[in-house]
Amino acid sequence: MATNISRKDFIRNSVYTSLGLGIAPTLLSQTAHAESGVSSALAGTTTRLKNVRLETGFEYEGDEVVATKTDLFLVEITDGKFSAILPNNPQAKAIDAKGLLMLPSFKDMHIHLDKTNYGGPWKAARRRTNGVKGMIALEQQILPEMLKTSTDHALKMIELLQSCGSGFARSHVNIEPTSKLDSLKHLQIALDNKKNSFGAELVAFPQHGLFYTDSLPWMNEAAKMDIDFIGGVDPYTVDGDIAKPMDTIVKLALDNNKGIDIHLHESGESGLKTVEYLIDRVNENPVLKGKTFLSHCYILGKLEKVRQEEIADKLAQAQIGIMSAIPFGGLIMPIPTLYKYGVVVGTGNDSIIDHWNTWGTGSVLQKANLMAQLYGYSTEFYLNRALKLATYNILPLTDKGQQQWPKKDDVANAVLVQASCSAEAVSRISPVKSLLHQGNIVF
Ligand SMILES: [Zn+2]
Repeated sequence: MATNISRKDFIRNSVYTSLGLGIAPTLLSQTAHAESGVSSALAGTTTRLKNVRLETGFEYEGDEVVATKTDLFLVEITDGKFSAILPNNPQAKAIDAKGLLMLPSFKDMHIHLDKTNYGGPWKAARRRTNGVKGMIALEQQILPEMLKTSTDHALKMIELLQSCGSGFARSHVNIEPTSKLDSLKHLQIALDNKKNSFGAELVAFPQHGLFYTDSLPWMNEAAKMDIDFIGGVDPYTVDGDIAKPMDTIVKLALDNNKGIDIHLHESGESGLKTVEYLIDRVNENPVLKGKTFLSHCYILGKLEKVRQEEIADKLAQAQIGIMSAIPFGGLIMPIPTLYKYGVVVGTGNDSIIDHWNTWGTGSVLQKANLMAQLYGYSTEFYLNRALKLATYNILPLTDKGQQQWPKKDDVANAVLVQASCSAEAVSRISPVKSLLHQGNIVF
């Protein structure tokens, strides 16, 4: 699932390659601005990069991984895919990657590209009153003004993500009576503008409640449009009921052949009931397996260890993923337990600068670093594995140290990082020097 390219990416890529272009002409000029100093030497549909550092295995002392082995390679990319991984040739006529480490490009799996102050003047979040409902009232006031700049701000935010190594985002997009479908339409303009350099999937997000405000008619409309997931938010707190909004979300997803990604901040009994309710619905409708997600899902952090394990097992069986922020403070999410049971875990910046908070840096590598700090992933092996939070589960090496990325015919989505190995990149949040999206150098 993690390695599948989305339908939109596939279409974008096909359109692109059918034009016979190996790199977008508009991107050539951007390439020159890349800080890496990587120069553009592209011809035809094949791009070649020399002096590319790739991980090749682990070095052991006894049974302990003490270092990561790397080597330099010549990498060929044809029509957006890796076409050959060859021994390095410093004399080759190719773009010089200068020994930078190539890793799978990063994915921001939870962000709101449609409503942000990023790109505008600094503004801290206001004091909160009346919980989520207070925030809904605030949004009803400020969204009409924010929509005026939302396309421009989304473009700037996408550029920030690219500069931090993300070539893909799953963005929630407000669908409610205040924004109607405008938030979605404005974001689609931005994404269309970036379609050759950035991939995205969209969650139609009834932020103001499906029934608390009259959002269902707009959600029905949005579900027929070019979105990928049906969203939701705290059914019990916002809509006053679990079954009715959850059944509506499930029906919208099934009727329109979409996935599901629900914001769940509720950390008490209603939160647990909502998780269990969703697990049951997905088991009844196996077509939803592998494409249903809970974002945040803070309740998991509040459960006793035994209960955490039980729910993690059930989530894994139902193939429901968790899109987790990495919260510090009083709440610690049981991410190691989720991994232990094989639950798909992703993360994102959520907010960069908006009225919810202003803490997102744009980097999901930083989230992997936070995870490593929080759970004590301090050794070479655990730091190496922690990279998967940034890449959404694609890693250059297997647990045993076998090389598994990049392989011939993999889509050429990659970053060049100033680090000697993944463990260093995670531990030091090493600088991203270049981003390749479907073979195009876009940063
Ligand atoms: Zn969110």
